[in-house]
Amino acid sequence: MKFGGTSVADAERIKRVARRIVDKREQGHQVVAVLSARGKTTDELIAMAEEVSADPDPREMDMLLSSGERISCALCAIAINDLGHRAISLTGSQAGIVTDESHTKALILDVRADRIRTALEEDHIVLVAGFQGVSENARNVTTLGRGGSDTSAVAVAAALGAEVCEIYTDVAGVYSADPRIVPEARKLPAVSFEEMLEMAASGAGVLQLRSVEYARNHGVRIHCRSSFDDEPGTVVLAEAETMEQPLITAVTHTTAEARVTLTGVPDAPGAAARIFDALAGANVNVDMIVQNEPVSAGGQAEISFTVLRDDLRVARAALEPLSGEAFTDMTTHEDMGKVSIVGAGMRSHPGVAAKVFGVLAQEGVNIDMISTSPIKISCVIARDRVELAVQALHSAFELAGEGTVSEEEPFKAGRAS
Ligand code: ADP
Ligand code: ASP
Ligand code: MG
Repeated sequence: MKFGGTSVADAERIKRVARRIVDKREQGHQVVAVLSARGKTTDELIAMAEEVSADPDPREMDMLLSSGERISCALCAIAINDLGHRAISLTGSQAGIVTDESHTKALILDVRADRIRTALEEDHIVLVAGFQGVSENARNVTTLGRGGSDTSAVAVAAALGAEVCEIYTDVAGVYSADPRIVPEARKLPAVSFEEMLEMAASGAGVLQLRSVEYARNHGVRIHCRSSFDDEPGTVVLAEAETMEQPLITAVTHTTAEARVTLTGVPDAPGAAARIFDALAGANVNVDMIVQNEPVSAGGQAEISFTVLRDDLRVARAALEPLSGEAFTDMTTHEDMGKVSIVGAGMRSHPGVAAKVFGVLAQEGVNIDMISTSPIKISCVIARDRVELAVQALHSAFELAGEGTVSEEEPFKAGRAS
């Protein structure tokens, strides 16, 4: 059972989560719960670091950020003990979550779960701090990137051979669009790994991308559901197991993109490799890449790509030393977003891209860059047009469910928890 930040935001909610975990235990299950930091704690910790430094050391950032999840787990263990059950909280490191050395975006390499297993055998409920691990060589505390508690939960579930990895969150499951932006979005009863990977990669933050990759690679069953009621949510499963294959499953978006354009790139083998090697060396993930060679530019190419806005400073610093040889000019645009449509049925239906571009044109939304996969079409657009574009696409592809499903009302009277 994994509970996100909103679900443990205050004392009342911690107690409710404790109750819910205990109920599961009393139904006869062994339970490991992975918790996130409370409410906006992670954002606040980042802001605290930025108050003391413009460029905080990544190792120390991880020491700082990992504390949020420890607080949630210890508090929840205390609450569970008060309910007459025995609980033990563990840091990621104590739980045996071993990662690579890349601070603030570490990858899980292994989960050495003996300590969790022993605690379960001793009839404990085990609480594991999400979002963190310990690096294999330097033995430093690491964190797994924003939203990383989902991945902690899936990795622990895989290591223990759990029946299911339940991701409890503040919406009732995975929807056909972010319900905060499209209130009439439909809750999807099931979604395939392939579609969920594309959705997570294109901004559906309800599950961290790596958690979905990890679940697919290790055969973990994910059930994403509301922490505020008992309704079934969304199960993520193999494509062969899904019943339907709609043309379009969801519209996703991000508002956290930045675009970098390099002009005067030599039109010769190796030019792109030099640029993207430098970015990889700085641990910057590049999303969309477009290269062209304007007829007027006399044998010089132009490369544009997008990165997360948070990575822009590091990307710029990595590229500046190459100025003059790998490119002549670098311009950046910070206020970019991206809107995507995802659907396995797209594979066999022509005309979807044309419809997407038509809808955006009708709304007067200018498309900056386009990329596609067999089951996804993404358009980079101005950040302030994203909301409008998501709503227009959701309605043009008729993704709304029958009846309006709105965002969950936390702890509505009369609801089971
Ligand atoms: P948690 O703290 O539980 O991990 P997150 O904030 O990380 O929760 O993820 C849940 C949020 O994801 C929802 O509140 C919702 O606004 C957002 N979200 C974005 N896209 C989707 C989608 N397609 N379906 C459901 N939720 C989505
Ligand atoms: N607390 C971390 C974050 O806010 C990890 C998580 O919630 O999954 O990103
Ligand atoms: Mg999350």
